[in-house]
Formats: sequence, structure tokens, C-alpha cells
Amino acid sequence: MKFLDLCKVYIRSGGGGNGCVSFRREKFIEFGGPDGGDGGNGGSVWAEAVEGLNTLIDFRYQQHFFAKNGTPGMGRQMTGANGDDIVLKVPVGTEIIEPDSDEGDEGTIIADLTEPGQRVLLARGGNGGFGNLHFKSSTNRAPSRANPGQPGIDRTIWLRLKLIADAGLLGLPNAGKSTFLAATSNARPKIADYPFTTLVPNLGVVGVDGREFVMADIPGLIEGASEGRGLGDRFLGHVERCAVLLHLVDGTAEHVAEDYQTIIDELEAYDEDLAAKTRITALNKIDAIAPEELEEKRAALEKASGGKVFLISAAAQKGVQDVLRALMAEIDADRITPVEAEPWQP
Ligand code: GDP
Ligand code: MG
Repeated sequence: MKFLDLCKVYIRSGGGGNGCVSFRREKFIEFGGPDGGDGGNGGSVWAEAVEGLNTLIDFRYQQHFFAKNGTPGMGRQMTGANGDDIVLKVPVGTEIIEPDSDEGDEGTIIADLTEPGQRVLLARGGNGGFGNLHFKSSTNRAPSRANPGQPGIDRTIWLRLKLIADAGLLGLPNAGKSTFLAATSNARPKIADYPFTTLVPNLGVVGVDGREFVMADIPGLIEGASEGRGLGDRFLGHVERCAVLLHLVDGTAEHVAEDYQTIIDELEAYDEDLAAKTRITALNKIDAIAPEELEEKRAALEKASGGKVFLISAAAQKGVQDVLRALMAEIDADRITPVEAEPWQP
């Protein structure tokens, strides 16, 4: 199973710079006293949820994130420079998981970044060591001690993004959902001409006019799925947060309006909110239908759905771009709703 939703990353916070032992030495000044500065703090590693990302794909290309060390303190009371913090930008909805062991896939969720701007400290940078200036006291006016910087922290974590699709694909088995997803996205779902080829929802990033959205292929629903029968029910949850649903109807089927209604009944029985989502309806496989039959079916489907019906062929890539644009427009309309992010408190 290839999901884009689990990534392992290696992080390391920066070590603190060592404190410095130094004494002021200048001509004509005797006993100048200690002047060794503190080391700088090492950089910390954070994760922050940001809007506008919807996959963890960036972490496929970069898995190592090392913050810089603080530099050592120096004489003349010079404090070392702090290492810069590193912020891993992750999509909203990313969970941070600490693996229980080096091997195996058990882990503990240490953070769930659900709001834009939410941050979590993954590895604190080491503090810089105190220079000898720091240890000056009335009883010890020439301390020759300084602290070393604290080391940084090495950590392996997983990022896990729940499948949150912007658009969900609905339709009876064989409607062409997998074919549509394969034709329009980077996903490569299994395609076969028997029902229930899709046992897990596939996630694909769809590009349209230079923009991107995430589409999920939901396994075929069958009548009664919402009551626990069939396979669809287990996966319906993945489309709950979609902005729009694309309902594909197999144009080579005899009764397109009834097929359409089967899915709608299913949706309504499962979840009112889901059923109330914006839907786009498309009659698929038009490459395999005679023109007059196509018109008949289109009319029947328009009547059943009470709206526009796109005519497409997922296999021949006909009419597909128009559908993608319509989906993108609905997703944009949905995203415009501003999200009030909690200001981050350190
Ligand atoms: P799913 O069950 O909805 O995921 O359907 P699939 O994508 O697996 O497709 C079911 C069958 O329909 C496969 O044999 C596909 O090759 C075929 N199919 C899908 N789209 C089209 C199309 O646009 N035209 C034709 N002629 N066949 C298609
Ligand atoms: Mg399929």
C-alpha cells in the first residue's frame, strides 16, 4: 500500500556552544578579571502546521533536519551566536508520532497539529555553557571554570497525515473511479473490471491549471453499506471532510438514474452532512456509448440529479479537465471560509 501519509524524519537540535575561560589582559590593567562569554544556544527543531499543504510529499525528498550548534563564547565577554531554529512545515492534520522502538511500527502520538499555526517543539536546542565571567563572585574573583554547552538531541519521529481529501470519488463498483483517479493524479490505483478492486481508499494529488488538490477514491458502495454490509462503509469516513464529491455513473450500465439513486440513498442513510455536500455528477465511459443512447442517459441522469451532468471518458481522457476545474472551483469556494487560528503561545 503506497500512501503519502506516513513519513519518517530524523531530527537533531543544535548543541550549545561551550562557555569560555578567559581573563582580561590589557597593558596597565592588572588583574583584569574573568571575561569569558557564554556559549550560544543550539537551534531547536519545531513542527508547525501550515495551510496550503495537503500531503507530506516534501518529506519524501528530505528526511534529515539538523539545527545548527551554538558557537562557543569568547574572551572580552563575547557571547556565542545562537543556532537558528528549524521549523518543519507540515499540513494541518499531521500527527507527530514517537516510535516505540527502532524497528516495528508501533508508536505514541506526541502531538496532533489540527490548526494552522499550531507548533510543537520536537527537540530543544542545547543551552550554551556559562563562560567564566559567570562564575565570578566575592570569594572567587578569578574563576577558571566554564561550562560546556549542552548537547543537542537526536530523535527519529514519524509524521502521519490522515487521509484528508479535498474531493471524494463516489460511484458504484466499476463506475470508473480508479481509472479517473489514475488518469488525473499521481496515484496509481489498481484497476480491474470486477467490483471491489479498491479495497483501500487511494489518495492522489491532482494537478489542474497549475494548482493542486487531493482526491480520494472511495471503494464502491453497495446498497446497505451504511448498515455495515459491503465494504464501502468502513471508508466513508474518509470523505467526511471533503469540500466536494464527484459522483461517477457508469454510462454503459442500463439504468443510470437508478444507479445514481442507489448511491444517493446510501449517502443519506450514512450521514446527512455528507449527503448535503456539493456534488458534481459525471456520466463516464462515453467513449463506449452510441450518441443517441448517450443523450437519453444524460437526460435521465439530469432529471435524477436535478443539475448539470458532465460527460466524460476517464479512459480516453475526454471531458476530464472540465470536471477537474469544476472540482477546483468548489474546493476554492469551500476554502475561502477563514479559519481563526489560535495564536501560538510559547
Ligand atoms: P471503480 O470500481 O469505480 O474504481 O472502476 P475502475 O476504474 O476499476 O473501472 C472499472 C472498469 O471500467 C475497468 O475495466 C475500466 O477499464 C473501465 N473503464 C473505466 N473508465 C472507462 C471509460 O471511460 N471508458 C471505458 N470504455 N471503460 C472505462
Ligand atoms: Mg476502484
